[in-house]
Amino acid sequence: MLGDTELIILSDGTYLLDGGAMFGVVPKTLWEKRIKADERNLLTMGLNSLLIRNGKQTVLVETGIGPKLNEKSRQIHQNQMLLLESFRRAGVSPDEIDIVINTHLHFDHCGWNTYYDSDGKAVPTFPNAMYYVQQGELDHAHEQHERDRVSYLTDNYDPLVRSGQMRLLRGGSEIAPGISVEVYPGHTRDMQAVNIKAGDTKVCYISDLIPTSHHTDPTWVMGYDLYPLESINNRHRFYRRAIPEKWLVVFTHDHEVPWAHVEIGEKGKPVARALEE
Ligand SMILES: [Zn+2]
Repeated sequence: MLGDTELIILSDGTYLLDGGAMFGVVPKTLWEKRIKADERNLLTMGLNSLLIRNGKQTVLVETGIGPKLNEKSRQIHQNQMLLLESFRRAGVSPDEIDIVINTHLHFDHCGWNTYYDSDGKAVPTFPNAMYYVQQGELDHAHEQHERDRVSYLTDNYDPLVRSGQMRLLRGGSEIAPGISVEVYPGHTRDMQAVNIKAGDTKVCYISDLIPTSHHTDPTWVMGYDLYPLESINNRHRFYRRAIPEKWLVVFTHDHEVPWAHVEIGEKGKPVARALEE
């Protein structure tokens, strides 16, 4: 609880991603001091969603990988599909969700937007929610560019667009009182972060601009990023407010440190300072 706002980290479990793809041009000899890869160079990553309840609205940021991957992809990623279990443990029903925010439409961020019903039709997992994403992100998803089309599964979003249950944003906007989105290009052109005012604390779900607590160095950007120079510039833009104002930062893909404050460390670089339990 922060003021009147309740924040809960929910999780779709963990999955495996290639270490080189997660750290781009950073040499393995440096990143493996922080995080260990298995014998196939795979890292265990988290799939953190954020639930926000302020007495008026219940908002879910991000919906994990979900249940619709084909067998081959499931073999590769070893994902666990635990988000609904995580809901049950938190005592929250998917029917309670009023708003779903997708920071972007990669498969590991919007997978539980929908599930296949007994007729094999993709239907909303959160029937009472309005879903929000940037128009530019949807346009890029539809482009199906050979560089990243494997990351975009149309059943995660097109059924919602067709039914009018997905609202398409053009730039930063307030979604609900105290909850707004802000575009940070880099990972994709139109990836949006979610800013939350919770009591006196500012919270930011920064998504894949800074995917884990190991990615706080401005230059440690992912190989996946389409615009790595913009990722670096936008990290600086983020830190200019998040560090002095002591924002609580939520890391999508860190299964060990889902949220932390960012400070300037001994070497003069931003570092994550985990919350004390
Ligand atoms: Zn991601």
